[in-house]
Amino acid sequence: MYGLAIHGGAGTLPRADMSAAHEHAYRAGLEQALGAGYAILECGGTSLDAVTAAVVRLEDNPLFNAGHGAVFTLDGHNELDASIMEGSSLKAGAVCGLSHIKNPVQLARAVMEQSDYVLLSGAGAEDFALTCGFEFVPQSYFFTPARWRQLERIQSGDPNLSGLTISHIGTVGAVALDDQGCLAAATSTGGMTGKRFHRIGDSPIIGAGTYADNRSCAVSATGHGEMFIRAAVAHDISARMRYGNRTLEEAVREVVLGVLPAMHGEGGVVAIDAHGEIAMEFNSEGMFRACRKAGEGPQVHIYRQA
Ligand code: ASP
Repeated sequence: MYGLAIHGGAGTLPRADMSAAHEHAYRAGLEQALGAGYAILECGGTSLDAVTAAVVRLEDNPLFNAGHGAVFTLDGHNELDASIMEGSSLKAGAVCGLSHIKNPVQLARAVMEQSDYVLLSGAGAEDFALTCGFEFVPQSYFFTPARWRQLERIQSGDPNLSGLTISHIGTVGAVALDDQGCLAAATSTGGMTGKRFHRIGDSPIIGAGTYADNRSCAVSATGHGEMFIRAAVAHDISARMRYGNRTLEEAVREVVLGVLPAMHGEGGVVAIDAHGEIAMEFNSEGMFRACRKAGEGPQVHIYRQA
């Protein structure tokens, strides 16, 4: 059995504001990323390679808030965070506050595979990238007019920009189970529009935005990062399965529809368990998401299914 689930962020534009062309572009981006990861699993590749490939595609797509298309800090810069985890060894790697790395998830993976550390930040993370021969890009690489306009609206104090509606939709992530029974998860983001003081969200925090353990599940989260850190969302879902004998679906629902709303934590997760069961749950208006299991066709959704 193998399978893959991906997300392109929770929150989403209100349905009324989503044009058909816009929706088509998001769906195409999700399908492309899902296809890239699934092709690896289909050929007997690892879940780690599958989540990396899917997240790289989403990072390269300007529609999503990761890599090219990342949101801006209050002073008009981009600071990127990412993490990755492998469920058989519990090895993990993460990076935060990057300014010049085209595909942060690949650097997170290099931290996991080529360093003795788990989480590297800012200039130090980029020094490490240099030693690994990573491609550096200028900050202008991340620029998109749409994200710049969002920053301008935040700077102007637009009252309609509260919550997740527009301030940080588009974080990306993937979870996979491969033919060998190994789980993996990865998440990548530009964080929240208008963030300050080198704010770091949940995406590069192992146990908050990302977790993978072959004894339970793999999880990638998206949403208001501060709450996801406080609730240790990804690890809580795994722990409910391991110690509380919950199914994946039960554990995900308890956290996303119970724990998080109780602390005003808006967002969602994609998750997969060691049997290939997939859960894609959110408490926001929508979540860009897609999944595919062995022997089944792809599914791509934005809003809640009837
Ligand atoms: N969780 C991300 C953060 O707080 C943002 C998001 O998922 O939209 O940085």
